[in-house]
Amino acid sequence: MAGRGFAGLAIAYYLKTFFPTSKVVLFDPNPLKESASGAASGLLEPIGGRLAARSLRATEAMAETLELLKAVSRDSKKEVYKACGVIHPPIDEKQRQLFEKKVLDHPEYFGWTDEKELLVKEGVNVFSSDYLEGLFSLLLKLGVEFIPEKVVLDPDVKKIFLAVGDQIETFLPGRFRFTRGQAMQVRQKPTLFRLPKVHKGYVALDSDPEVVHVGSTYERLNLHLPPNEMLAIKELKERNKEIFPELEGLLPETVKAGTRVYSKDESRLPQALFLGGNCYALTGLGSKGLLYHALYAKELVLEENIKLFIVGNSKTM
Ligand SMILES: Cc1cc2nc3c(=O)[nH]c(=O)nc-3n(C[C@H](O)[C@H](O)[C@H](O)COP(=O)(O)OP(=O)(O)OC[C@H]3O[C@@H](n4cnc5c(N)ncnc54)[C@H](O)[C@@H]3O)c2cc1C
Repeated sequence: MAGRGFAGLAIAYYLKTFFPTSKVVLFDPNPLKESASGAASGLLEPIGGRLAARSLRATEAMAETLELLKAVSRDSKKEVYKACGVIHPPIDEKQRQLFEKKVLDHPEYFGWTDEKELLVKEGVNVFSSDYLEGLFSLLLKLGVEFIPEKVVLDPDVKKIFLAVGDQIETFLPGRFRFTRGQAMQVRQKPTLFRLPKVHKGYVALDSDPEVVHVGSTYERLNLHLPPNEMLAIKELKERNKEIFPELEGLLPETVKAGTRVYSKDESRLPQALFLGGNCYALTGLGSKGLLYHALYAKELVLEENIKLFIVGNSKTM
């Protein structure tokens, strides 16, 4: 098992859940939160984009993620998420009309706040850092062995699962698209935001009520260079000035960066792949890792909905 981002941790969890006597060894050479998952702001919604369209497989994906969040919260005796809904102030008149129609057509999913903003009722704010810590600690209790090194592709191991984030490029070169994301963590007293808010950018909550996560950049160029924090801060302030004008005068405590991996497949859904031999991969979670990681990890472990990867001239196998 390689990678302890959302995908890798979830795979290890389901391996231990469905095959409790199996030996599960988790490899990752990097610190727990130094991954795209460590940078994730924590928005979990069944919708996406300016049209707020329901994502493919959203209902089952939300259900699986919530189960996992509950299991981690139970074990760590700490709520690692807040099922509070997510607010979407309309960006323009066209979007306002679209949102109003959504509320009329689907009152079970959407509400309308006194401030004339869309409330996505199923929306959840995950405290990503607490979730990663809690899930990793639960895995150790379930008997998963951790080795802080790169995975070894040992042909004698029964199954190897790669959930290596942007490092999938070294295994399957040229198959995926990448964008870097940066989000900043800002300390704000008293807390202005009681609910997470998505507009041109977004503001997400933290388990520390005085901290909010402000995101996010979508950088396609210079991914080989280190992230430029100053540029990101400028962009994030500009992008969020309508929902968070106070931000202009604030300095971020931290800026977190990670690389999102997208499938080139039209559906943009994650990819659960059988690579041949004893090797499997889960990748392409894009900007919706929280929505999809549990569902796809569970299916990969149970060998459902797996695509056979045609190796072609890939160097890996
Ligand atoms: C700024 C930002 C904000 C985001 N906000 C959200 C959000 O609010 N909601 C949401 O749903 N998604 C969000 N995302 C997207 C989300 O973070 C990703 O979809 C998700 O983290 C991908 O998880 P992963 O496990 O596939 O990869 P990663 O989290 O990147 O984990 C991969 C792991 O593999 C390890 N690894 C690499 N190579 C090896 C190797 N050879 N052997 C062993 N281990 C290896 C790495 O060290 C790493 O720990 C955000 C992303 C960014 C960048």
